[in-house]
Amino acid sequence: MSTFVDAAIHQGQRKQLVAFLEEKGICDPLVLKALLAVPRHWFMDPGLVSHAYKNKAYPIAAEQTISHPYTVAFQSELIGCQKGDKVLEIGTGSGYQTAVLQALGVQIYTIERQRELFKKTKRLFDQLRLRPKTFLLGDGYLGLPEEAPFDAILVTAGAATLPKALLSQLKIGGRLVIPIGNDPQVMHRFTRTGEKTFDKETFGEFRFVPLLKDKT
Ligand code: SAH
Repeated sequence: MSTFVDAAIHQGQRKQLVAFLEEKGICDPLVLKALLAVPRHWFMDPGLVSHAYKNKAYPIAAEQTISHPYTVAFQSELIGCQKGDKVLEIGTGSGYQTAVLQALGVQIYTIERQRELFKKTKRLFDQLRLRPKTFLLGDGYLGLPEEAPFDAILVTAGAATLPKALLSQLKIGGRLVIPIGNDPQVMHRFTRTGEKTFDKETFGEFRFVPLLKDKT
């Protein structure tokens, strides 16, 4: 299908984008390789394809956005995963971050709360033969207790407050990467150091659409 062509021009633009991300401080070679491998334009509306390799967020369905490539790279680096790790993603959106995580070789469980977006992205995953372990329509605020514990949890929407349920679904040593606050959000990483203990780090300001409760 022509929509899924990865033309030389796109590959070239992607190389430039990855060079830019490296200049901006992304240094994990596996993350850079994953961003180089995944055609972002496949996850965007056809009318926006020519913008796919700019470091910008763009509208997708249901008034949501595909994250900036820098944000995707930054969060992918922060979760610090190894091949085979079990990762929960909250806020599938366009599926671009999911595809980057798959390219990193992790086992991905992903949740989206907007039905329209869920259906659209599910169809896209089928067309691309991209197979997350689980892709659910639901409220990621609650995490996915039946599949816990996870090596990492990545939240791709801005949470007003920290959803406590997510902390309890981390393995010891597991990481929760989540933007917290009201426009802008501060990127946080919580590392579970024991049954009831967590380390907290912060990594500057980002802008995300809100993480919302109880709606599908
Ligand atoms: N990584 C995605 C980001 C999409 S924006 C991408 O690059 O395309 C964030 C997504 O989080 C939106 O699709 C929004 O619908 C979803 N979201 C918001 N609150 C949620 C919740 N409680 N549970 C699951 N998904 C949620």
